[in-house]
Amino acid sequence: MTDHPCKQGERPESRPVYRGRFAPSPTGDLHFGSMVAAVGSYLDAKANNGEWIVRIEDVDITRCTPESAVSILGTLEKFGFEWDGPIVYQSGRTELYQDYFDRLKGKGMVYGCSCSRKALAANPKGIDGAPLYLGRCRNGIASGGSVRSWRLRVPDAEVGFVDRIQGFQSQQLLRDVGDFVIRRADGLFAYQFAVVVDDIEQGITDVIRGADLLDSTPRQIWLYQCLDQPPPSYAHLPLAVNASHEKLSKQTKAAPVAGLDPVPLLKTVLSFLGIQLTAEDCSLEEFWKLAISNWDIEKVYKKHDIESLI
Ligand code: GLU
Repeated sequence: MTDHPCKQGERPESRPVYRGRFAPSPTGDLHFGSMVAAVGSYLDAKANNGEWIVRIEDVDITRCTPESAVSILGTLEKFGFEWDGPIVYQSGRTELYQDYFDRLKGKGMVYGCSCSRKALAANPKGIDGAPLYLGRCRNGIASGGSVRSWRLRVPDAEVGFVDRIQGFQSQQLLRDVGDFVIRRADGLFAYQFAVVVDDIEQGITDVIRGADLLDSTPRQIWLYQCLDQPPPSYAHLPLAVNASHEKLSKQTKAAPVAGLDPVPLLKTVLSFLGIQLTAEDCSLEEFWKLAISNWDIEKVYKKHDIESLI
């Protein structure tokens, strides 16, 4: 898995078609951080003559609201993004996830786990800060226990990839994460699983997103392998954080961008990423033309996080 011939900044030449996406979770309004992911994914797709789709990641119906989805789409429209094809909502794709889940189960790659969060809380922390799963139910659940969640077996091997911005990355999944949940105790499919199924089904070739998801990528690449599919090319943009180094989010009270003037905000997003546009006054249409022709992923700051500019 560590044998990736392409260099940092390059897309594999074997991918002539480009299909990118922006996949927001509708848990609040778009803020500066989500706008960075929207702009980066859009410009990379357009600069590569690609398609760009929008997928509403509302698989976790306990956290998402239809009002947030409406607000996000309205803001994207106001800021001049033009997406291809219909918007896909994860909440309407349970049957598809079930089908992929059954395939993995049929191959013996998934097993039922009876451990509660509480039972795992004292485990050492994994690479993403959550308790490591040490394989308690790997060979069957203890008698008297019942299945709560479903986990994917991970290999005792390195899973690596070359990120177009952040360079070579790798994890030893068993040591760094452990077998991970793909179907939760409440019956919902987990983000890690739904995102891979959707990216496969939608023919996504290029994933450009925030560096908060860098840690998740080896798990997702492993899922591609289990499903016998080639993974996309990845580029993780610097994450916008607040002065306390927390990711901008609804929880950290990030300000919505919907009410702001689009062109100045979009220019600020680009300069946050490391790309300066010289044009003073321009229309939204002119901005996008200029931004597409000036997009160069090699210029994007190779940092995991940067303090937000608004
Ligand atoms: N839905 C995720 C989020 O809003 C992004 C998923 C992805 O880009 O893979 O953080």
